[in-house]
Formats: sequence, C-alpha cells, structure tokens
Amino acid sequence: MLVKFVGVGTAVKGIQSCIVLEGEETKIAIDVGAGSIAKLDFDLDAVLITHNHSDHNSDLIALLKARWLLGYGKLDIYGVRGTRAFLESALESYAYLRRKLKFEVHETRSFRVGEFDVKAIPTKHSIESQAYVVSDGNVTVVVSGDTYPLEEVLSIECDLLIHEMSLPFNCKTEDHTTPESFAELLDVCKAKKVVFVHLYPMALEVKDEITRYLRKRRDLSYHVASEGETIHISK
Ligand SMILES: [Zn+2]
Ligand SMILES: [Zn+2]
Repeated sequence: MLVKFVGVGTAVKGIQSCIVLEGEETKIAIDVGAGSIAKLDFDLDAVLITHNHSDHNSDLIALLKARWLLGYGKLDIYGVRGTRAFLESALESYAYLRRKLKFEVHETRSFRVGEFDVKAIPTKHSIESQAYVVSDGNVTVVVSGDTYPLEEVLSIECDLLIHEMSLPFNCKTEDHTTPESFAELLDVCKAKKVVFVHLYPMALEVKDEITRYLRKRRDLSYHVASEGETIHISK
C-alpha cells in the first residue's frame, strides 16, 4: 500500500491534514484540509473525514467542484454523525453548486471501499471524531485523526500507525496528543511503525527530542512525516 502524506500541517502552518492511501485498485483520502486540493489527485474512490474541524475538511467542496468540472462520477464521503448535515449546510452558501456536485455521505462505522476494509473507531477530541483502520487484506494502516491517545487505537495490530502529535512536552490537554500522553500507552502499542503528523510549530521545533524520548521509553520505529512524503508499506 502506498501512503502519501499530502498534508501533515495544522491550522497554522503548511498544507493541512490529508493522507492518501493507494492500493492496487483503490485510492482514498483521509481528511482534505485547506491546501490539500492543490496536491491531491482527483480520481479518488472515497474521502474519509475524521472530524469536522476546518483543518480536516475545508477542501471538500473544492474537491467536489473540481470533480464535477472534470466529469468524474459520484464521490463517497464517510464521516462521523453530522457529516451529512455539515456538508449540506456548507453548500447552502453555494446554491449554484448544490445540484451539480455528485456525492453520497455515509455515517457508518464499518464499510468497504474497493479492496479496502475500513473500520472507524471513536476518539477523544473537542468534537466528535474518529480514527480509521484500513486494511487491504495484506497490510493494515491506522490513522488517528485528532485525539488524546487511546488504548483502543494504539493496541490495534497494524503495520503503520499514523498518529497526531499536536503538542510538545509539558502541555496539559485532553483533546490532543503530547509526547508524555503517548508514552503512557507505549506498553500496549501493537504498531510495527509509528509516523507522527499534525505537529503544531512548537512541537515541530522539538520533533527530534520527541522521537528520542519515545525511543527511550520503548524502542519502536518512530518518524515525523514531512509534507509530500510517500512511503510504501508491505509485509
Ligand atoms: Zn480537530
Ligand atoms: Zn486538526
């Protein structure tokens, strides 16, 4: 499976959240935050939204409009409860587009997109949010979305865990991840490789300290993704 980090930024820097997973025949995007449209292939089979914060969904209408202009068919959009209402209300401001855009919103927690089996897991954030577990029958990738670190996410057996690391050391939060809160769950972590995304600038400044600190706690493979980076995951 190819994993393309189109956007790894936050609301204040870089292309915002957007990760593309590409299998033999299927291509999906997880989140389409601001700026991702400029680097995104439009021939997607589905878009999975982790939660309806603008740094995760704000290019959705731009993507649907581009697909309409280029003659693509219906796009399946998956998300938490309220995703349909969110999109419909956003489109009220663009009445000229509403009938032209082809999409269907699904708010189910377990579904299939082409060769990908997907499960959504509720996470802990300031609004309803979910992680996605995507398996092509060979490799499994987990994408956390914005969340406080949870055993339900870290204990999933997977080849790659893409986890947020919003904040640096000594930050108190129950909505996001810090090095300390992530380290507390390292004993239950069953991921073969961990890649961090969604680092605010103050976390990005100490990214090497963060991976060094975690490696000392448990010697796993940690990496902080860069915008535009692609990695290949295989058994
Ligand atoms: Zn958020
Ligand atoms: Zn975010």
